[in-house]
Amino acid sequence: MAVIEIEEVYKEYEGFVALKGITLSIKKGLTLLLGPNGAGKTTLLKCIVGLLNFEGEIRIMGYDVLREAVKAKNFLGYLPQKVSIYENMKCYEIVKFFSELRKIDLDVEEVLKLAELEEEYHSKFGELSGGMRQRFALALLLASDLPVLILDEPMSNLDPMGRRRFEGMLRELKSDKTILVSSHSLGSLLPYADRVVVMNEGEVVFDGELDQFLSMLDEKFKAHVKT
Ligand code: ATP
Repeated sequence: MAVIEIEEVYKEYEGFVALKGITLSIKKGLTLLLGPNGAGKTTLLKCIVGLLNFEGEIRIMGYDVLREAVKAKNFLGYLPQKVSIYENMKCYEIVKFFSELRKIDLDVEEVLKLAELEEEYHSKFGELSGGMRQRFALALLLASDLPVLILDEPMSNLDPMGRRRFEGMLRELKSDKTILVSSHSLGSLLPYADRVVVMNEGEVVFDGELDQFLSMLDEKFKAHVKT
């Protein structure tokens, strides 16, 4: 059964059509959303998490994200492209704040351990590096035990070590969750993807299993070599 159902979604920004009728079914496991800059990935993810109004329908676990927003959002964790809120709050304060916001009992030590940031208990979020922020934000989502995670270009600001740690966290997660991760490059997450969706200019131009995607790349490569 599809966890995220997207039907004929259109999004227009003051006359510019950024999403031109997107229809997708996203199942459990890791789905990689690929596409060049401006393809509409961030717009689609923001529609899924209910941050933007749109035409069409999106359901999370059967709940309509616009009409049953509170219920739909209960299942959702969202990691935006740049995590820049909470600059002045200390790491432990953020965990407590997030616990209250989500009405769940999060253990500060557990979250920091997951993020491999045990030493940063009293550090301000604004003092952490890009990689540390991403790990901290992902650990918060993980510890909250949310079944659906929407991650917008989580690897883009990470150094190679940060990427490896982040990949490790995602690998451990993907078996029992539905994770949708956007990226503008094939990157190192590809081998862990169950499904690949490619967008271009507001449309889905490929939607299939990883094997289908890889064989399509292979075909294109072969064609290129022949010419
Ligand atoms: P990137 O990887 O650069 O974030 P993307 O695939 O996520 O690219 P979007 O950010 O969704 O693409 O943008 C899709 C299109 O919509 C782009 O042409 C962008 O300029 C346009 N766009 C995005 N946000 C707005 C906005 N608030 N107002 C007007 N146009 C916008």
